[in-house]
Amino acid sequence: YELELFMYPEHYRDDVESVYIPHGVIMNRIECLARDILEDMGHDNLMVLCVLKGGYKFCADLVESVKAQSQSSDRPITTRVEFIRLKSYLNDRSTEDLHIIGPEDLSMLKGKNVLIVEAIVDTGKTMKMLLKHVEKFQPKTVKVAGLLVKRIPGGATKLPDYVGFVIPDRFVVGYALDYNEYFRDLNHICVISERGKLKYKL
Ligand code: 5GP
Ligand code: MG
Ligand code: MG
Repeated sequence: YELELFMYPEHYRDDVESVYIPHGVIMNRIECLARDILEDMGHDNLMVLCVLKGGYKFCADLVESVKAQSQSSDRPITTRVEFIRLKSYLNDRSTEDLHIIGPEDLSMLKGKNVLIVEAIVDTGKTMKMLLKHVEKFQPKTVKVAGLLVKRIPGGATKLPDYVGFVIPDRFVVGYALDYNEYFRDLNHICVISERGKLKYKL
């Protein structure tokens, strides 16, 4: 969409090219994901594992929607949120070394129905590594919600159990997704411009 149709922070005026997914569309899609998650996992309390930093808005809005829909159902559940922080990107390129920055101990996941909440799954490498790490703590079940899915080469990893949008292979920012820590404070998911890439390059 044309940028001029939307409200966005003035300081990003020439740094994004277009609005790819408007905030309202994201929110509406999240309601559907929350409904599906409740249908599948709503028989038990939910342990959410939010992947920081990019997943913080998606996680907050998803948990809020699960809560709202659960409370208007006949069997309300409680949700608990834990966090893990990963880092792998420099500029708009994935680096080979992926780090779990913290916390090391996820023993609270033991025996729980865990929902991993991640903003974007591209090649699936990050998710594969994270799933392996999470399994060590012996959760009862593990499912993944990915707001955006990009490439996923055939067979490398399974698709997330809950997918918000499948998008083409372009670098997107906003709704907590960053480019070198910038653009997280943009509500829409946008395509970064060449000028934006240069301006915030490391
Ligand atoms: P994967 O390991 O699946 O190739 O990469 C996943 C990670 O790369 C995500 O957690 C995210 O941090 C980063 N990433 C991949 N594509 C994008 C993108 O288009 N925009 C942003 N901001 N981050 C991305
Ligand atoms: Mg990330
Ligand atoms: Mg990032």
